[in-house]
Parts: sequence; C-alpha cells; structure tokens
Amino acid sequence: MATDGLRDQQYAKILQRLIRMETVSVEGDSNTEKFVRFHSLLQELFPNLFSKLDVENFSGSLLMRWTGERSEKPILLMSHHDVVEAVGNWSHEPFSGDIEDGKLWGRGSLDTKCSLWAMLQAAEELSAEGFRPKQDVWFVSTCTEETDGSGADTISQELQKRGVEFSMVLDEGGFILHDPIGGADHDFAMVGVGEKGCADLKFVARSKGGHAAMPGKNTPLVRLGKFMAETERSALFSVRMNAVTEEMLRRCGRYMTGVTGVLLRNVRFFKPLLTRIMPRVSNTAGAMLKTTIAFTMAGGSQGRNVLPQEAWVIGNMRFSIHQGQQSSFEAIRKMAAKYDIEMEILDPGFESSVSDFRSPEFRKIEQAVSAIFGDVVTVPYIMTGASDCRYF
Ligand SMILES: [Zn+2]
Repeated sequence: MATDGLRDQQYAKILQRLIRMETVSVEGDSNTEKFVRFHSLLQELFPNLFSKLDVENFSGSLLMRWTGERSEKPILLMSHHDVVEAVGNWSHEPFSGDIEDGKLWGRGSLDTKCSLWAMLQAAEELSAEGFRPKQDVWFVSTCTEETDGSGADTISQELQKRGVEFSMVLDEGGFILHDPIGGADHDFAMVGVGEKGCADLKFVARSKGGHAAMPGKNTPLVRLGKFMAETERSALFSVRMNAVTEEMLRRCGRYMTGVTGVLLRNVRFFKPLLTRIMPRVSNTAGAMLKTTIAFTMAGGSQGRNVLPQEAWVIGNMRFSIHQGQQSSFEAIRKMAAKYDIEMEILDPGFESSVSDFRSPEFRKIEQAVSAIFGDVVTVPYIMTGASDCRYF
C-alpha cells in the first residue's frame, strides 16, 4: 500500500482517467463502442500486465487470464466497468473525476471502477517486478452489471464449457464500516458471502369495471389494499437466523457493551430471543432474518370516475437464503389468492449459493484486511443487493 503522498497522487490520477470515461450502460443498447474504448484505456494504463494477459472481449465485457505456474485451482477477481445513469444534481460533475479534500468524485469511483483499478494496479506492479502467480489468475470486468447481467452470464457459461473451475471468486459486496449494526464501536470489514435473491412480482386484481357511482364491494383496488395490508401485518415468511448472520452478530458483539453485547457474544444461546427482538430493533435487522417484499408500483383505471377492470401492484421481493425462491413465491401466491388476486412472475431472480466463512479462502481475505487496514475486524454477512458473481 502506498505510504508516500506522491504514489497516492499517481494512483488518484489513474482512477481519475477511468472515471472520466463515461461508461453508462443502458438496457437493450447493444452498441459496445464506449466499452471497447475503455478497454483500450486499460491497456494503456497497465502495459506490463496487458503484455502478459490473454484478453477476450464478450460484447464489451472483458475476460482476461494471467497464466500462472499451474492451471489448477485458479482464482477469479471480478468487477464491472459499467455505471448507472447520472441524473439529478451533483456537487461535482459525475464524470469529472474531481479531487477535493483528498476525495475523488464521480460515477463509478465506488461502484466499481475503484476495485477494477486496485486489482489491475496490483497485478501491473507485480508483473513489472517479474512476478508470476502460482496459479492462473483470471479477471472479469463486465459492462452489463447494472443492466441485465448478460456479460457475466455468457462468460460464466463459456468458462464452464472450457472446464475452468475456480477455487475462489472475489467480487464487489461490502464496505469497511464503523459500527455496522448500532452500538459496536469499532471498524469492521463487511464481506458479503451470499446474496438474498431479488425477484419482481406483479399482482393483478380484476373485475367487470363499472361506474364509480355504484361501486359495490371488494373492487380491485380495495382487494389489493387488503392484500398488501395483510402481507405487511402477517408473519408470511419464515424467520430464521442463518449461520452467517449468527457469526456476524458474534464478531460485532465483541465490541459492544451492556446487555446487547452479552446477548450477541452468546448468540447461539440467545438465538430464539434475538430472532424475536431483531425485527423490532430496525428494518435492516429484520431483513436479515426473512424474505421481504416491498410494494413499489401500482396502477388502476385511466379515469377518476371509472372503476378499473384490472388493477395491479408490483412487489419487489428479496428472498432469504433459508426459505429460498419457490417457497417464498408460494407463500405470497397463497396470500394473493385469498383476495382473488393473480400473481405473475416478472423476474424470478436468483438463488445465491453461500460461501464458507471458515474456509482458507475467507481466511486469506481476513489476513489481507488486517495487513492493510490494521485493527479492522472482518465480518461475513449476507448482501441484500445482487452482484455479477452469482453467475459463478
Ligand atoms: Zn456494482
């Protein structure tokens, strides 16, 4: 890690150039020109490394192999170089890469041109020193992470065809946070080891329509309203503390005082109690224990005095790793049926596998964190967002 200011400045200038190249991905746009331009920039910035890499372009997403001494147990370092649209007011232009008060501003500086830069910079410096990795190191950087994930999907399928099986896959997911759960006065490196799945569901209530002057009972919007209210009120999804959340609470608990500290340090013993009180503490705590659904969009008739023949709401579901996709779908489908509402699956989402936080690979991450950041405690957790590595 850089200790002198000069090296920091050099690094910031490189990241700045990556930020300044606009790489917004747009759903359905197949033009890859800007992404290919971005590839050329990488090649220019990391010349040593690129002279040793096998580089393949999958419609703007990159697959790169740094051949090591042997090909068994290769590792994969992932990121993405597309960014989301930059709308709204920005205190610094989104693609300026402005540096002020030691901070670099711009779309992608966190998500995830920073990690792409860090991985390639480290490899660039190592390769300039003549270093050759023990096993193959693969890099993937996609241009579709913020849209449909097709880049990671295609590359993963291609690697499976070639029989490449990774011993470790490392992608975005987590931060170094001070006090991540409230009351733990310390810095923690939160490392995502699994993801809650994310699905979009549409709920449709129908009727014969009619005039608002003679509405009758249980019109479509009323049924949807009752359905949403009961879904929120009831214990529709199963509540359980998984091993990852248990470990996260235990590790954070070591830095907590008072009753909470005692409860968390002895999480196994107090699990039934914690499972009961956590949802009351905060929404975030509750979301760790069960599938959730948020109703996000709705529609009815086109006229103020017209009853809808069809009314709908969209629910964004995050299914827990213990209940999973199908069982969560069934639970909500049953509830919808009670109000004569049909459920359509717009996007079924993914069921994520969970990596073992007791594995030697996770231990390596912990070692790297303490080597670089000192007294920072590494903590495994289940992410509520989705990343490209679910395809691997
Ligand atoms: Zn991202």
